[in-house]
Amino acid sequence: MADENITKQAANDELAQLRETLNEYRDAYYTKDAPLVEDSEYDKQYNRLLDLEQQFPDLVTADSPSQLVGDSVNPEFNKVTHEIPMLSMGDVFSEDELADWSNRIEKNVGEEVDYNVELKIDGLAISLVYENGILVQGSTRGNGTIGENVTENLKTIESIPQKLPRPLSFEVRGECFMDKHEFLRLNNEREANGEQVFANPRNAAAGSLRQLNPEVTAHRKLDTFMYTIVTFDDLNVETQHEALQTMEELGFHVNPTAKVTTGLAGVKDYIEHYGELRDGLDYGIDGVVLKVNDLATQRSLGNTVKVPRWEIAYKFPPEQAETIVRDIEWTI
Ligand code: NAD
Repeated sequence: MADENITKQAANDELAQLRETLNEYRDAYYTKDAPLVEDSEYDKQYNRLLDLEQQFPDLVTADSPSQLVGDSVNPEFNKVTHEIPMLSMGDVFSEDELADWSNRIEKNVGEEVDYNVELKIDGLAISLVYENGILVQGSTRGNGTIGENVTENLKTIESIPQKLPRPLSFEVRGECFMDKHEFLRLNNEREANGEQVFANPRNAAAGSLRQLNPEVTAHRKLDTFMYTIVTFDDLNVETQHEALQTMEELGFHVNPTAKVTTGLAGVKDYIEHYGELRDGLDYGIDGVVLKVNDLATQRSLGNTVKVPRWEIAYKFPPEQAETIVRDIEWTI
């Protein structure tokens, strides 16, 4: 939203301050897995930065969080180059903003489009590379282009197949997460040992996967939901929904709630349904993701430097830490 009262000089000063603060928050969140503030506070300041940058595009700098995906890579890990970058995702916070996004997509495509609607799992993105059906490399998103090689750690996760039923050579991506019971168990254990507790299941998952000793990861029960096939080998897949079905057939853990809708019909119900059910799920979700279902249309829409144009996250209002604990206690 444009701030009509602000001068360019004042915007410049405010942007410098926002960059410094947000980059400090990002370092704590992505590198140390220990956030300094709630996501809603980060999002508020980030959206202010986006508004000012939109109003004064020549004030955008290379170190602005609007130009960066994730953060630096822990130098103690071997590095992996993502030939196809692992991007972030645009987000909206209201149904009006979602409708605006969908209108822009349909205007660009020239007709009503089908969306695959999925839950936005609150964990961290991972990439798995298979050669002839064997898992040969697993990594984190890192800064989007360079990730951390965590192959041995990922091999300790039960839901990740190390051998596929077919000798495929391809890459898949998805979310690694910690369920709410394991989060509570781990934090209780850490508290008893006088260690610092994790702020939320997302940070606990990231802190558990990004361990130099895979045995530590093995002792924390992590799980996965895979949602993207990056390279297709000879798979006959034309839509995002078919990609999910194919991954399930191949033995990956795929979230069962995804559905295809034409235009935004049905999206509101999906958002409302999972917004209400959210607390009762055993895994954390922070929103709903809409993806253009047709993969050829996705390719023609392409990406910005930071986000794919063909997908958007509708973010739920923040969940309070006490709510997470209360819900876990109810479901135990
Ligand atoms: P994001 O986490 O909002 O969205 C992109 C990610 O969504 C993907 O990388 C993927 O890991 C995940 N995802 C989950 N379900 C998915 C699905 N079904 N399909 C596709 N992707 C799915 O973006 P981001 O750039 O990683 O991080 C921004 C978020 O991190 C914001 O919500 C922000 O609040 C938070 N953050 C918080 C702090 C803090 O200090 N609290 C600091 C930095 C960032």
